[in-house]
Amino acid sequence: MRKNIVAGNWKMNNDLDASIELVHELILATDDIEIGNTRIVVAPTFVNLQKVREISAGSRIEVAAQNMHQESNGAFTGEISSEMLLNIEVNDVILGHSERREYFNETDEVLAKKASKAIENEMNIIFCFGEQLQDRKSGNHFKIVENQLKKGLFHLTAKEFGFVVLAYEPVWAIGTGETASPEQAQEMHAFIRGLFADKYGKEISEEISILYGGSVKPNNAKEIFSKPDVDGGLIGGAALKVDDFLAIIKAF
Ligand code: PEP
Repeated sequence: MRKNIVAGNWKMNNDLDASIELVHELILATDDIEIGNTRIVVAPTFVNLQKVREISAGSRIEVAAQNMHQESNGAFTGEISSEMLLNIEVNDVILGHSERREYFNETDEVLAKKASKAIENEMNIIFCFGEQLQDRKSGNHFKIVENQLKKGLFHLTAKEFGFVVLAYEPVWAIGTGETASPEQAQEMHAFIRGLFADKYGKEISEEISILYGGSVKPNNAKEIFSKPDVDGGLIGGAALKVDDFLAIIKAF
């Protein structure tokens, strides 16, 4: 079923003490709030994943990894496999974040393999994609997004989309303070749903959750989340402060 999700990507922020403090604050703050079936997810760095997962067990807070490798094990220095994540009871992973694509050369082809691997192991994916500023300026943004989805995800079967949440993140809006307008987000999300309807049918397209990411803050979350095809947000900077993250969660 289509769910509302607010996911906080902590990126390379928060050492162990800061991670523990933040997750404790979030657990307390979300314990008794009325947010229906909204899922709350946080993605700490690899080294703090296990601790945050242990602390958040039994709470409203779910824990995701920020990345994983497409192989199970082997000579891949510095990498982490989905089996290793599952071994510490982390069942969710963000794939394809624009920073992974840009700074670590993650291509659509590699991401397609990562998606398959995660799903083979029954992990949930938050799959990120989105256009660069020049793509939007040249009017190419729909084509870019379509290509990223076709190459990265359209090899999956309809059933496998039960494991997938999409996160549309226009690169020009990430960490820049500039956000897509609620209308721009809605327009793209409706376009994405249309692509899924064409390929997999209306039922799948209506069931898949599509998050928006890119400078979502307490002062704009409500308007963005009010759009019919926006099912939540992937939050960077504002996920590092409990009050801001909470205000965004409450925007539902
Ligand atoms: C992100 O990194 O996914 C993100 C959306 O960051 P920010 O909210 O800081 O723009």
